[in-house]
Amino acid sequence: MTLEVHILGTSSARPAQGRSVSGSIVETHEGMVVVDCGEGFQNRLVDHRAKMKAFGGRRLKMARMSTILLTHGHLDHTWGLLPWLQTMALDGRREPLWVIGPTSPEVIDTLLGGENEPEVNSSDLVLQYDMWMDLGATSEALGYELNWVLGDGTRWLDMNTGEEIPLPQPFPSVKLSAHSTQHTVPSCAWKIMTAPRLGKFDREAANKLPNEVRAHLGAGEDVEFGEEVLLAADFREEPRPGLSLVISGDTAEKSIETECDLLIHEATFLESHSDIANEHLHSTAAGAARTALECGAKHLALTHYSARLEDHGPAIVEAGDIHESVIACGDGDRLILNDDFSLQHLVIQPQGWMTY
Ligand SMILES: [Zn+2]
Repeated sequence: MTLEVHILGTSSARPAQGRSVSGSIVETHEGMVVVDCGEGFQNRLVDHRAKMKAFGGRRLKMARMSTILLTHGHLDHTWGLLPWLQTMALDGRREPLWVIGPTSPEVIDTLLGGENEPEVNSSDLVLQYDMWMDLGATSEALGYELNWVLGDGTRWLDMNTGEEIPLPQPFPSVKLSAHSTQHTVPSCAWKIMTAPRLGKFDREAANKLPNEVRAHLGAGEDVEFGEEVLLAADFREEPRPGLSLVISGDTAEKSIETECDLLIHEATFLESHSDIANEHLHSTAAGAARTALECGAKHLALTHYSARLEDHGPAIVEAGDIHESVIACGDGDRLILNDDFSLQHLVIQPQGWMTY
């Protein structure tokens, strides 16, 4: 089993230095999730899918994409959403789709019938939701079921019905969770985690048994054998934890308050500009590395670079002084978190992806 991330934009705020704004696809064995969807997302998706077919040898099927997770409402993370929803309608999509993102507790209070009239940040997703509705992002207009959910991290609201619901879990065993971050608008990081895995089958012990008995034990079934009952659990090592990754969105340096194997974190600035990072509630490469240590991440992938950063070198050096496994994402890269928790970094080149 693996988790694979397709990085479709690594620039902060605006396209710069050949980089596009935010948007990633996470592939799990149960389907795909998109995290953020900045301007021009679908153009990059078309291009990436063509390269996957040509060089990766497989298709990214949009029917397997069930969920779009937004980290916050800044347009470099959301402006590509509506046109892409409309393209999926043109392509004849029939599968339901979830769009889930953060808003403020005050907005949730009001939506749940409170009398207050909160001040709403002009980039809050609730305002974009209203606008998207006016522009035709409804299930009726699109021809497929579109379920909008906004939440404050603890309470989630089905915007179609106005009812409070648990955070949707569109997959049978892969779990989604939101973790608060600190930015100039309501924001969160998203965690995607596969279920714990069976421990390894003890072949050596089972080899002494007849084939049929071994097959039952391997399938997890207890077997009567002679006088005794063999318990399948006795032939397995301890269960192994699932694979997990967190994508931060935009945030000041702040602990994510969950553990993960791979942290994909914004690194808008270097420490030399930590004053600007603090002022605009962004992180530095070193700050991302400190957060990665705090959440026990085995690997840190940097993204979301300021236009002033010409190349990734200094960011890798800075974060690499703090964390032992750091890579810098580029547009079009793929990250594969393997079954044994190792990370493969595939970088797109004119002739296809090269492993680093
Ligand atoms: Zn951003």
